[in-house]
Amino acid sequence: MKGIYFDGKDAVYRENLPMPSPSKDESLIRIFYAGICNTDREVLKGYRPDFRGVMGHEFVGVVEESSDPYWTGRRVVGELNAGCGHCIYCRTGREKHCLERKVIGMDGKDGCFGEYMTLATHLLHEVPSGLALTDALMTEPLAAALEIPQQVHIGPDMAVAIIGDGRLAYLIASVLRLSGADLTIIGKHSEKLQKFAEMGKTMLPEERQEAETFELVVEASGSPTGLELASGLVRKQGMIVLKSTYAGTVNVDMSRLVVNEVTIKGSRCGPFEPALRLLEKGLVKLHPTEFYELGDWKPAFASKAMKAGFLIYPDV
Ligand SMILES: [Zn+2]
Ligand SMILES: [Zn+2]
Repeated sequence: MKGIYFDGKDAVYRENLPMPSPSKDESLIRIFYAGICNTDREVLKGYRPDFRGVMGHEFVGVVEESSDPYWTGRRVVGELNAGCGHCIYCRTGREKHCLERKVIGMDGKDGCFGEYMTLATHLLHEVPSGLALTDALMTEPLAAALEIPQQVHIGPDMAVAIIGDGRLAYLIASVLRLSGADLTIIGKHSEKLQKFAEMGKTMLPEERQEAETFELVVEASGSPTGLELASGLVRKQGMIVLKSTYAGTVNVDMSRLVVNEVTIKGSRCGPFEPALRLLEKGLVKLHPTEFYELGDWKPAFASKAMKAGFLIYPDV
């Protein structure tokens, strides 16, 4: 099978990958489309040094074989964290924090930048019939954005800043906008910020007035300097939600956070069903995805489009 394999150093396009075979609790999925996430780019920079395998975790596909016959022939998206089923986290409904979890395309499990993939059947979600598959491809990143209102109460009277002007920041803005909060998007690229114009106020970091502070700051810049910027924006006793994952560590003045009694909250994967619901109802504005062939992974990864991905098997 064709796919993009991470060999520990770099991505390699291969046409001789073994065909995956589902275990007794899994389904075999033929991939239509796969999306490139910033996390995949971080894998190439060393974010997951121990991983070897097919990359990618955002996909839409069709189930060809399944442990549960219900799923056969259905169009699906799927969650990326497969838990062991018996540790303290799995037993308390927190499978994504499982001590022995496998994460597709990142940790112990082949991902979706290939023609086929296997996934634990209980991680599948059906794509509603009215939803375009190219839109359904946004389910996973949108679910990650929806994790924020799941963790933090966001009221319409709150001043909220989002740091970042990329795809994740855009989805976060789309979701937080629905709360009615007073949104400000802070990014480094004025041309990218234009896309956020209808979501809220936009500004470059240097345009901000000293007195302008925010009850909640969401760091989604994908840059290690984002947290330092966030700690200068957040109000005393406010909260910073961290969304970016990257290789390496960050340097931050922690005493400022201590003295100001700032809460820092990490935020990762979120709920799929509400994400599918928002997409189906058209409540989230999406940018068209720029699609590439698997063999063209280099230009695909380098793409400056709001969203790039792979067209693996045309949806007919
Ligand atoms: Zn992702
Ligand atoms: Zn577990």
